[in-house]
Amino acid sequence: MGMHRLAFRVRGLRGVSAGRIASASRWLLAILLLVGRMRIGAVRASLGTWLAARMSSREAWPIQTLVSVVMVGVALAGGVLLLCHMDTVWDLGTLAQRPVRIEDGRLYAAGAFDMKGGIVNALWAIRALQVHGLMPERRITLLITADEETGSATSRATIEAEALGHDAVLVLEPAHPPHGALKTWRKGVGEYRLEVKGVASHAGAAHEQGVNALEELAHQVLAIQALTDYGRGTTVNVGVAGGGTRDNVVPDHAWADIDVRAMNAAEAERLHRALTSLQPHVKGASVTVTGGMNRPPMERTPGGVALFRRAEAIAAGLGFAVDEVGTGGGSDGNFTAALGVPTLDGLGVTGDGAHAVHEHVILSSLPERAALLAGMLRE
Ligand SMILES: [Zn+2]
Repeated sequence: MGMHRLAFRVRGLRGVSAGRIASASRWLLAILLLVGRMRIGAVRASLGTWLAARMSSREAWPIQTLVSVVMVGVALAGGVLLLCHMDTVWDLGTLAQRPVRIEDGRLYAAGAFDMKGGIVNALWAIRALQVHGLMPERRITLLITADEETGSATSRATIEAEALGHDAVLVLEPAHPPHGALKTWRKGVGEYRLEVKGVASHAGAAHEQGVNALEELAHQVLAIQALTDYGRGTTVNVGVAGGGTRDNVVPDHAWADIDVRAMNAAEAERLHRALTSLQPHVKGASVTVTGGMNRPPMERTPGGVALFRRAEAIAAGLGFAVDEVGTGGGSDGNFTAALGVPTLDGLGVTGDGAHAVHEHVILSSLPERAALLAGMLRE
């Protein structure tokens, strides 16, 4: 099917069903928000079954504790991986304190934008293709994980294995505010801890016999912050630090937690080498740095840009524009892009306030975002 015919069909879908999709999406969001409050085991079982029943999927099974995978389409290999996460940064009970509310066309709810709305988008894009007889032959895999916000420790292996089995990865993280831009690159994210050891001593009676770990830490903080290089997009942030016990004791211990961000693998490597070879300044002190890159950089690659160009053309056919952006924040797209699998991120819903109390989804954007994603799955 040519581009024009597709655009016509999807545009028709958008016009005819916009109201229905918007209201049904609100319902879906409510369901997903409720699901998010259930125990993980129950989520796995219920979400898998629920998706399987509604998506007429060929297979649905829990891969491991925190992951649900649903596959549609007839092909056995290749195809598109839709990557979602159902966890949020919010504590259990947040919805009871701040219930879902709709105001001025915006749905406010913890996790609605990042990224339960993205799950809704994925479901409606697939549903639209099914309803309109536009389902492609290719395989579409929907992977929903539950530990993205905490670093994807249990889901990373599954994400990487699934990505390698597909031709492209579309990540349903929120579109970039305010105009819903798509992300072709993300910085890599590293977490490090610096431990400083000194020698404790009486601050008054034997000051000279002590080695002040906090003094050493002060030198290290300045050296670490200086690794920042805005020109290369590299940032290093000493975010939390501590040490010592009482003001009349020379502290023998101090520490700092460090967040690093890098645009490419070479910069990530430079930072890693610099951090792990820090030398003490104060005589008698010692420093140790542990940690590493939690998420590799999602570099702007020709494959990712080609996916963006396709999205740009499909959106233009639907009557709206999407811009290309990058961000310092990581996602599970970092893992898939680093494996060389073409990845486009930000294909979730438009809105704003990720990780903030004003988190919301713009309801009128849901049909056009679903149509855009449907177009991406179709071509
Ligand atoms: Zn997210």
